[in-house]
Amino acid sequence: AAASTRRYSISLLPGDGIGPEVISVAKNVLKLAGSLEGIEFRFQEMPMGGSALDLVGVPLPDETLSAAKQSDAVLLGAIGGYKWDNNLKHLKPETGLLQLREGLKVFANLRPATVLPQLVDSSTLKKEVAEGVDLMVVRELTGGIYFGKPRGFGTNENGDEIGFNTEVYAAYEVDRIARIAFETARKRSGKLCSVDKANVLEASMFWRKRVIEIASEYPDVELSHMYVDNAAMQLVRNPKQFDTIVTNNIFGDILSDEASMITGSIGMLPSASLGESGPGLFEPIHGSAPDIAGQDKANPLATILSAAMLLKYGLGEENAAKRIENAVLHTLNKGFRTGDIYSAGNKLVGCKEIGEEVLKSVETPV
Ligand code: ATP
Ligand code: MG
Repeated sequence: AAASTRRYSISLLPGDGIGPEVISVAKNVLKLAGSLEGIEFRFQEMPMGGSALDLVGVPLPDETLSAAKQSDAVLLGAIGGYKWDNNLKHLKPETGLLQLREGLKVFANLRPATVLPQLVDSSTLKKEVAEGVDLMVVRELTGGIYFGKPRGFGTNENGDEIGFNTEVYAAYEVDRIARIAFETARKRSGKLCSVDKANVLEASMFWRKRVIEIASEYPDVELSHMYVDNAAMQLVRNPKQFDTIVTNNIFGDILSDEASMITGSIGMLPSASLGESGPGLFEPIHGSAPDIAGQDKANPLATILSAAMLLKYGLGEENAAKRIENAVLHTLNKGFRTGDIYSAGNKLVGCKEIGEEVLKSVETPV
């Protein structure tokens, strides 16, 4: 088996607040799941966010970005905190995150929303609606109305003040996000729903046309289309009808937050940001939670599940990913809960202890 050992280098960016706590746990889980599947990791830990600001005066040091770019995948904890909230714009931890996404050219943001049977009661939806939800929102991240020009403030022909933005998508931008979405759907249940506003917006008509063209490369994936207003409604009416959703930057911003609330537990939700080639960026969707930092109270499962996404979508190591996902389910089945997902009758544990339980379950899968 030694001959077939696969080696990957992973940049670990713990960041601020609970970031270092959840990254330390996730690193151990990644290491063990990898070793059981013939994978050897080289981890390189680099400063980023507020801790980098304190250390070297910028939120994303050049050394951190170049290490990230040279690695096979990047696992990020969380960044930010009260301490830096009054900093100038270019000296905010959050600026470092934008620079990192830009530097890695990650234009596709993947956010799963899965209602685990063990946590169905944390959903904001009725049990019968929430049960069994397992969907993925693929959001275009670097184009569309958030970046389109012209943009700004001005005056119209009547002398009224105006604010304006522009929705633009080039063919290559739609094509590459569509391909990632089709690939994602293929790794899941093979159903892709493209969400747009093609009944009103030219940018959306163009989006739909390109998605249909790319679909011919993926005859095994079943493609459907939905207007965004309907999609927003269907997500709370019957979320089970969705598997993979692909949409533009602004619609994805809104729909991915809506979808995450279906699960109701912020400490459980991972994310992936992918580019065309080069390393992907994997991080929990929650923030640095300064209110509980340093108290061993953080839920590391979102970061552990981000490590599973790293394996599946970043390295194509689906067996090791599955190992981690199963271990998380097994740990929940045994009743272990951190405070954010605790309900009566369960075992309340801290970040380290739930991490130890996941490790045990990775080692001896049921
Ligand atoms: P952002 O950095 O995106 O602005 P935020 O400040 O809006 O984030 P978070 O830092 O995610 O929000 O925290 C929101 C609430 O959720 C806090 O009360 C925090 O303690 C809790 N929380 C967030 N992540 C976790 C976690 N992994 N485990 C337990 N509780 C968490
Ligand atoms: Mg915050």
